[in-house]
Amino acid sequence: IKKYGYQPCVNIGTAGHVDHGKTTLIQALTGSWTSVHSQELKRGITIRVGYSDAAFYKCKSCEEPLGYSTTPKCNNCGKESELSRVVSFVDSPGHESLMANMLSGSALMDGALLLVAANEKVPKPQTKEHLLALQTLGIQQIVVVQNKVDLLPYKEVMANYQDITKFVKGTFAAKSPIIPISAQSGLNIDALIGSIESTIKTPERDEKKDTVMHVLRSFDVNKPGIKLKDIKGGVIGGSLTQGIFKIGDEIEIKPGIMNEKKKSYEPLLTEITSLGTAAGIVESVKPGGLVAIGTKLDPSMTRSDSFIGSVIGKPGTLPENSTLLKLEVNLFDVAVGITEDIKVKPIQSGELLRLNIGTAPVLGKVTKLKSKNIEIELRRPACIFEGGNVAISRRIDERWRLIGAGIIG
Ligand code: GDP
Ligand code: MG
Repeated sequence: IKKYGYQPCVNIGTAGHVDHGKTTLIQALTGSWTSVHSQELKRGITIRVGYSDAAFYKCKSCEEPLGYSTTPKCNNCGKESELSRVVSFVDSPGHESLMANMLSGSALMDGALLLVAANEKVPKPQTKEHLLALQTLGIQQIVVVQNKVDLLPYKEVMANYQDITKFVKGTFAAKSPIIPISAQSGLNIDALIGSIESTIKTPERDEKKDTVMHVLRSFDVNKPGIKLKDIKGGVIGGSLTQGIFKIGDEIEIKPGIMNEKKKSYEPLLTEITSLGTAAGIVESVKPGGLVAIGTKLDPSMTRSDSFIGSVIGKPGTLPENSTLLKLEVNLFDVAVGITEDIKVKPIQSGELLRLNIGTAPVLGKVTKLKSKNIEIELRRPACIFEGGNVAISRRIDERWRLIGAGIIG
């Protein structure tokens, strides 16, 4: 097995209204359908944040944007291409009730593709809401994708392109390129890859620092009826922001699990038994891209994403579990994501908010309030890093709506 192998180096997210083609585009770029859960197929929407990897290649002889492809053979001239980058995709659910999942996924995004369907009025509610979510979490490297251009005559596509341009101009993504494509028929995908390669840079990360992994998924990989001796331990997926992990490393998972007797959360200690990326099994993983770690945990503990929002590090190196969250808050003027924008009222003492801390969605009650600085008592402990971005949501008309951003103080 290879050290690192072709571990992806960057996480690219999708954003945009439901049915605008996010999952179809990821499929076109990776060759794999991210909606693998049967329940997801039934409901026709991406319930969990799916993930898959892609390799981008660039032909040396062809001029930009020609010559970018997802295969080592150039689509344009047929010659051998060079590997440009291996990337991970974090596919977001577009449905409005799944904003918490989108926000958890966003915590791991280095850049994002904002999909806008050419045959719909601009902007749709979740187009606005997702863009705001990206802004909240500080994701600035954005490529806007005008999808489904195959559905309309040229003139209408151009008019829609103008509408998208106007919309994007009024947002923090004003400088983003807008690339027209058809995800379904694979039209202009080479130009899109070229734009991703020049817009979404691989961030610099420190492999020497204490390892920090944010968890986005967890699984039980055993088939029902498996023999006891063949059972594999719990598998946890996510992304490292710094440091490395090797097979055999002792790890600590926070906040851990509830100790019913003590009525408090206790961190879990276990050992890494295997490491994988979508490209295969490796000996060690570094920051960037999505990775999976096999552990000695009882697999029933890691079933159905139970560990989403956890943080993993080497024992004794992570911040203590805490239920006190101190934030410097920046509220939006309006809450979007509904047909009508609603004015955001100031935060009240005693009010219940939903906070997205890293990949963890946690409820909390406001206990102190002094202009922009608030203190929140969380309903369950979280592993809180100073300086991190937090997305703040409030319940408006029976739904959690994004109302602002906070920086952990
Ligand atoms: P998501 O909710 O944003 O992930 O959207 P999906 O990828 O599930 O796509 C929604 C629907 O739009 C599906 O029926 C796709 O087949 C269709 N679709 C996606 N991309 C295109 C495209 O480029 N052209 C056309 N005509 N249909 C598309
Ligand atoms: Mg989808």
